[in-house]
Amino acid sequence: MALKYSVVNVRRNVSFSDPRTTNGFYLKLHISSINKSFLIEHVILGDNMLNSIWTNNVTLPSFPALQGNAKTDVLIIGAGLAGLLTAYCLEQSGVDYLLIEADTICRGISRNTTAKITSQHGLIYHKLVRSFDADYARMYWQAHESALAQLRQLCDSIPCDFEAKDSYIYSIDQPQQLEQEAAALSRANIPFDHVQTPTLPFATAGAIKFSHQAQFHPLKFAAKIAENLNIREHTTAREIGKNCVLTNHGRISAKHIIVTTHFPILNKHGSYFLKMYQDRSYVLALEHAPDLDGMYLDAAQGGLSLRNYGSFLLLGGGSHHTGKPSDGWKSLESAAQIYYPNAKKRFCWAAQDCMTLDRAAYIGQYSKNTPHLYVATGFNKWGMTSSMLAAMILCDMIQGKENPYSPIFSPSRTILRPRLLSNGLEAVKNLLAFSTPRCPHLGCALKWNPHEHSWDCPCHGSRFTKDGTLLDNPATRNLRGKP
Ligand SMILES: Cc1cc2nc3c(=O)[nH]c(=O)nc-3n(C[C@H](O)[C@H](O)[C@H](O)COP(=O)(O)OP(=O)(O)OC[C@H]3O[C@@H](n4cnc5c(N)ncnc54)[C@H](O)[C@@H]3O)c2cc1C
Repeated sequence: MALKYSVVNVRRNVSFSDPRTTNGFYLKLHISSINKSFLIEHVILGDNMLNSIWTNNVTLPSFPALQGNAKTDVLIIGAGLAGLLTAYCLEQSGVDYLLIEADTICRGISRNTTAKITSQHGLIYHKLVRSFDADYARMYWQAHESALAQLRQLCDSIPCDFEAKDSYIYSIDQPQQLEQEAAALSRANIPFDHVQTPTLPFATAGAIKFSHQAQFHPLKFAAKIAENLNIREHTTAREIGKNCVLTNHGRISAKHIIVTTHFPILNKHGSYFLKMYQDRSYVLALEHAPDLDGMYLDAAQGGLSLRNYGSFLLLGGGSHHTGKPSDGWKSLESAAQIYYPNAKKRFCWAAQDCMTLDRAAYIGQYSKNTPHLYVATGFNKWGMTSSMLAAMILCDMIQGKENPYSPIFSPSRTILRPRLLSNGLEAVKNLLAFSTPRCPHLGCALKWNPHEHSWDCPCHGSRFTKDGTLLDNPATRNLRGKP
């Protein structure tokens, strides 16, 4: 029997019920034979596109939604790694707590990380010595080393592909930057080596190496940590008041409230909209690429990040201010083709993190005027140790204990940093721009992201699907009407 077909409709990047899985094709075919004709509608999901490698074959535990009003000593809002680890520390200390999550656990950035666990956060130490002093830089390092030690200990009993690895920050052509960093590390008495990079497939001017760092599978880790915690999923914090939070399922009264929603959702206090912007980057997981025996990051903004996971090589990069033009995965794909021509692309995804004014996270009291409200945010793409550190600091604060590192990360420290001016100018520029749609967070003009088919806010990084569904905070609702 002869069949004829004609394509009625093909759409790329259709939205499915989960707005974060936006990749795939919608295909509508008209098929006809002599006496019959019918339409076929089919949805073809992309080849793991826009799903990180960590979501492959991992089942996270699930939890009920809140049923009516509740009361607790400590309410934590947001179950990414920061919220989960804070809940875990409180559980271990015997403190009464409740952790609520708008979606399911680790539905935010934590599933899209590259999960290097290190106290080497770029060539940061010479900047810390310059902006503060050598003692401050050493304290910053010690804080993250203590978080790394804590994670190492937890991972002893959690099967999460934890591996000890050395961390390297390399430079392609700026040896003086490496020398500057080496001098600052020596002044701050922080151990390091200035080395060559023989396993990288391109020439470099060398690297600064931190030994005894680590990498893991963040979702295998989170699944185990979450197992016996007091969590309510599908429970969204809509309003945060004094000692109480209004959710979609009821009101929760709490003596202390901790906001771990990635970008904090409360604008009234703390001026986080001035203190932070979001920076987006892209990742490819390549199969059949060589083992590099280390975790690597280019010192230059937008350069490559490399680490292995099993038989995969995770190649990250292309970072840019969210909402600004970018070439998406293109430069990574070219790099993969040049350096690893025999490797096959198996996963690709993108994510963003909150960047602070002075490169240190904001962990502690939400603002000077909110004594029982706390926050952990601004991890500057170093959220593995920062989440652990946040949990350790916040757990101590809640119990009235001193933590030696809390002053460094206090959200109330000075905001008088050069970055404040550029954050402010960016916001003003986009507030005054005439174009639509506008972000429901503070009203900035959204920009179309052609690589991910989303509307992105250049001020604070909220993102929306083509149809206006919220993807990333700080906005807390969908766009009104179709964009
Ligand atoms: C591309 C990329 C690579 C990275 N690689 C590394 C790395 O190698 N090493 C490293 O240390 N760090 C890395 N990071 C940084 C790290 O992944 C993040 O800092 C960290 O995952 C953030 O965790 P979080 O818990 O703060 O946020 P999230 O994981 O986003 O969790 C926030 C949670 O809050 C929930 N939520 C939001 N609003 C509400 C509400 N109103 N009510 C209830 N719940 C709510 C969300 O659904 C979400 O589950 C990387 C970041 C990026 C972007």
